[in-house]
Amino acid sequence: MEQTLVIIKPDGVQKRLVGEIISRFEKRGFTIKNMKMEQLKEDVVKEHYAHLKSEPFFMNVVKFMTSGPVVCLILESPLAVQSVRQMVGATNPQEALPGTIRSDFGFISSSNIIHASDSIEAAEIEIKRFF
Ligand code: ADP
Repeated sequence: MEQTLVIIKPDGVQKRLVGEIISRFEKRGFTIKNMKMEQLKEDVVKEHYAHLKSEPFFMNVVKFMTSGPVVCLILESPLAVQSVRQMVGATNPQEALPGTIRSDFGFISSSNIIHASDSIEAAEIEIKRFF
């Protein structure tokens, strides 16, 4: 079994997509191991997106991720990390495959509805960071 971290971002919550997104994961067979709604602090977002520190859009990402409540989930299944990433789709919703969450509900990279860990190592770190 593998675990991965999902964050339904402030735009996903604001667009009332929490139920729809969780329902997709449940129907696909993931077990929800933990779940919470919270307003993220700037420090934790800066740490989470440290790999983007030098990007011109970094502070916009930080502002956006702290702009409203998010929903954090730990999902479990065999191959959870890659399965969830497939369901989430590419970073840019306009490049995401049809049927993925970002393609179905997102429009631009800066508000792309959802975060999911991109490797088993990242998932371990992110689960500790957010739970
Ligand atoms: P992912 O979330 O798909 O793992 P990254 O780790 O590269 O992608 O980026 C983290 C987040 O930063 C993205 O989900 C997106 O919200 C934001 N982001 C990435 N690239 C851009 C961009 N070119 N313009 C605006 N925001 C971006």
